[in-house]
Amino acid sequence: MNDMTPSKGCRDVPVLKERGQREVFCGLTGIIWLHRKMQDAFFLVVGSRTCAHLLQSAAGVMIFAEPRFGTAILEEKDLAGLADAHEELDREVARLLSRRPDIKQLFLVGSCPSEVIKLDLSRAAERLSQVHFPDVRVLNYSGSGIETTFTQGEDAALAAMVPVLETSDERQLLVVGALPDVIEDQALGLLEEIGVTPVRVLPAKRALDEHGVGENTVFALTQPFLGDTHAALERRGARHIAAPFPFGEHGTTAWLKAIAAEFGIDESVVDRVTEAPRARARKAIATQAAELQGKSVFFFPDSQLEIPLARFLTNECGMSAVEIGTPFLHQTLVGPDLDLIAKGPVISEGQDVDLQLDRALDARPDITVCGLGLANPLEAHGLTTKWAIELVFTPVHFYEQAGDLAGLFSRPLRRKELLKGMPNRLEAAE
Ligand code: SF4
Repeated sequence: MNDMTPSKGCRDVPVLKERGQREVFCGLTGIIWLHRKMQDAFFLVVGSRTCAHLLQSAAGVMIFAEPRFGTAILEEKDLAGLADAHEELDREVARLLSRRPDIKQLFLVGSCPSEVIKLDLSRAAERLSQVHFPDVRVLNYSGSGIETTFTQGEDAALAAMVPVLETSDERQLLVVGALPDVIEDQALGLLEEIGVTPVRVLPAKRALDEHGVGENTVFALTQPFLGDTHAALERRGARHIAAPFPFGEHGTTAWLKAIAAEFGIDESVVDRVTEAPRARARKAIATQAAELQGKSVFFFPDSQLEIPLARFLTNECGMSAVEIGTPFLHQTLVGPDLDLIAKGPVISEGQDVDLQLDRALDARPDITVCGLGLANPLEAHGLTTKWAIELVFTPVHFYEQAGDLAGLFSRPLRRKELLKGMPNRLEAAE
């Protein structure tokens, strides 16, 4: 365990800001998990074949299950005459909606090509909303690589939904962030037992389940990458409950206590309700953390989950962080997590990948968390890596997943140990 007191955390540490070559996903990838969460939504990317290929490779086998996303591919003639592009989009949307009457929300998702040719998708969304009202709501956001990095795609989608939510004066908690259903149920169950009510979620599973938002709404984020959604909710008068993110036993407890305090519920109630799940989480973490104790970790920027995860690994698994890289650093959102990370690691924002690779290779951390494009090359240099994408796709929030979360980091180390002595060519990133 780290012995520095939490009050000497990393919030005020100067941030190393880098701009240069980047190795990250664009925001289109958010569609992969959003379309599973929002069961009556369809995500229509307006882009090129590159965008279609990206989605197909990121979605893997999901593309065989009639997913609710697709790409309207811009052809050369669309690039030459924008008027045609709008007409063609209208036609494509009409065809899609007639084939899939289950769709109630349609997102027109901007891409690099549509941004570069300045195809006005927000105007298209307004126009199509009127055409297909009241059956389908058409919204627009950008998932382009020029504007968004990986999980920011979810942020952009949710931020686009906030302005169209009804107005509500109800005193309520809004839990914001797309979680797998089983995790969402756990969170809602804990909040109910503590006595927080009523609790709504954004995004809801279906458009009809959505609730309004207003000045009596307080909201808690479950993901650290929701900066624009945070701003959009504040513009609607809602107030944010700042808290560490619900990763691990400590993070989950601190998150619940911050919400309980907002609702005038004593800490002792949270302690009582969470006693059993906390004990389960501690035990599960301890099983996985044996390999992690005393080891060092280096985060390349990827999902914005890096800071809360570094907090979990350093505070609850006995690791030390060398560098915590994040594509963007929202102080307001991750400040409570930064407070809990002992001074020492470099906190970096943005990326110049060559410089960062040099730092990682110099530091030779025990585990390097990075994207798929860097993982195998770093393994070839003898570093042990963890693919960051898995941290977004795997259920890792709240008590019952705390052991699995630690396991995602201990597994590559354990495998390395098992393969010791075998020829290097057998090793690959995980
Ligand atoms: S949106 Fe941009 S970065 Fe993403 S796949 Fe399309 S062209 Fe590539």
